[in-house]
Amino acid sequence: MKINRRTFFKIITAFSFLASVPKYVNSFQSKYATLVYIPNCDGCENEPLPRCVKACRDLNRYRFPEPKKPIQPYWPRPNYEDWSNERDRIDTLTPYNWLFVQKIQIENNTINIPRRCMHCDYPPCVKGCPFGALSKEPEGNTVIDDKICFGGAKCRDICPWHIPQRQAGVGFYLKLLPKFAGGGVMYKCDLCNDRIKKGVEPACVIACRDRLKDKSVYKFGRREDIYAEAKRRTENEGVYIYGMDQNGGTGTIYLSTVPFEKIEAKLKDIKARFQMPVKVRNRYSDITKPLGIALVTATLFGAVTGTLAAILTKKGAERGL
Ligand code: SF4
Ligand code: SF4
Ligand code: SF4
Repeated sequence: MKINRRTFFKIITAFSFLASVPKYVNSFQSKYATLVYIPNCDGCENEPLPRCVKACRDLNRYRFPEPKKPIQPYWPRPNYEDWSNERDRIDTLTPYNWLFVQKIQIENNTINIPRRCMHCDYPPCVKGCPFGALSKEPEGNTVIDDKICFGGAKCRDICPWHIPQRQAGVGFYLKLLPKFAGGGVMYKCDLCNDRIKKGVEPACVIACRDRLKDKSVYKFGRREDIYAEAKRRTENEGVYIYGMDQNGGTGTIYLSTVPFEKIEAKLKDIKARFQMPVKVRNRYSDITKPLGIALVTATLFGAVTGTLAAILTKKGAERGL
């Protein structure tokens, strides 16, 4: 049986829809969260590079993409995204840098904000991936499966912070339909998935604490404890909070002595590549509630059976059955 591009995508989409159904159930389970106390971060001034960034890069180096060159353009697009010649960049998110420290000036104060995936409670990236390449783990983190990802970048488009980053010239599409399918693979922080599953804290959290001891920027812990501490400190210390309401709730809670409206305005003003919008509505959160799950499951089941039936009918007609 010869499979053309359209049939190939139909089959992949049908099976990935089925595979993604259980992931909706995990969407409202979250075991862990991270508290990020912005005022304590000095960007590791006087160090060659921020320790948290270095820890992440050292840990994940073996997972960074090694593209096959020359890289094929992603039909019908004439361009592709290639960060492989900028592996040393630490001032932004790339497929080779999953955490960076965003530096801004507000009223003569320098503010350093560690930025990585927020690990949303109702992650649009997981819901929106047509291939089911992302999952929401019971620990609360979201993970991209680089063996399934086709690099279509839908996850980045629908992420309110546009976190996942694409590298062309890698991925299993190269073996299947290199000229037609896939723009590469998407990469982002997975909250040190292997470590937290064993009860070990993320590498960035430990690296910062090694340097700043009890003034550490990050605190990683059980979600209810992190949320309770964040609320308590907001009330007692008058600090501002970010991440608890945005996008329907996240696993990364920032505290700041500067209002997040000011941070948002500054990032907009300087046209930063990564913004921090205060109002973030999650258009997917409703479908992760029980009634929504039932409706989504029924819809997906209909879509899958319909697609498979159409494919089988067409094949039967081609063979004169
Ligand atoms: S979060 Fe900690 S380790 Fe990272 S740049 Fe800030 S002070 Fe340094
Ligand atoms: S921040 Fe973006 S990439 Fe991370 S879980 Fe949320 S939607 Fe997904
Ligand atoms: S949690 Fe792990 S993968 Fe994520 S930024 Fe920190 S070190 Fe990197």
